[in-house]
Amino acid sequence: MNPELNPRCGWCGSSARPSGGRLAVCGLCGAATTHPPPDEAELRTAYVGSYRPPSGRFSGGGDRVLRYTRALLAGRLDRLAPPGPILDVGCGEGALLGALISRGRDAVGLEQGDQPAQSRLDVREVDILDFDEQRGEWAAVVFWHSLEHLREPRAALRRACSLLAPSGLLVIAIPNRSSWQARWLGDRWFALDLPRHLVHLPAEALVEAVRESGLEIERVSYWRAGQVLFGWLDGLVSMLPSHPSLYDAIRRPEARATAMSPSRRVTTLAAGAALATVATVLAASEVAARAGGSVYVEARRP
Ligand SMILES: [Zn+2]
Repeated sequence: MNPELNPRCGWCGSSARPSGGRLAVCGLCGAATTHPPPDEAELRTAYVGSYRPPSGRFSGGGDRVLRYTRALLAGRLDRLAPPGPILDVGCGEGALLGALISRGRDAVGLEQGDQPAQSRLDVREVDILDFDEQRGEWAAVVFWHSLEHLREPRAALRRACSLLAPSGLLVIAIPNRSSWQARWLGDRWFALDLPRHLVHLPAEALVEAVRESGLEIERVSYWRAGQVLFGWLDGLVSMLPSHPSLYDAIRRPEARATAMSPSRRVTTLAAGAALATVATVLAASEVAARAGGSVYVEARRP
């Protein structure tokens, strides 16, 4: 069968139906798959340059906020995981690793070779799209907004479970395709992040798969994975005439997908500020309805 004409769900493997844009939707599990899938060359291009420049991603203290939130996550992992090393799959620039190590935890990150990381960190340069190679026994395995980047996310989840020590903790954060913001914003939803995100999971599909893997789910949160308020803000701003990108506006010039003049940046940020109240109400409502823009799952090996 020609995969171009007969797309398969990137999560459960059932047949999926093209649904406009660059997505094919699975009737069985509700996941959307980026279709046609990007080839190696397209993906390589998508990860270089502005995606994560060595100088940092965000302007105006944004990188500090990112490090602060990772430090909170590190504290939580350190508190909840049994003694032992922690594996961060898709560790990016290493903010979580650095925070874990400064708490005295052994931590190893996996990241693709062309992603910058601080040299003091133990980052194994691997093709994280092929997570299957990993070995060892880990007190915790973390996929912080990385599972959706993998070619075989379901296999990676199974593999992660097999790597956990007894009482080991699995932590996954992903955008939530069944959120209000994903449904209402459609193609404008910034968490689609095409072509880097290869699967787009509804929270329910993730929770079910974690449960099926034999782990005990200890927490499902619709705000802990972040990006809930910002998803609304960016989406609302993008609906204005000329469709400005708030996400680009908060990034450093070298980290923007599209160059932005200073005056356009100022008006975009002002639009974000003006829409903040509406976005806050929408974000709070979807979190209260357990349909937040991202989902966080914490589960333990019995
Ligand atoms: Zn499916």
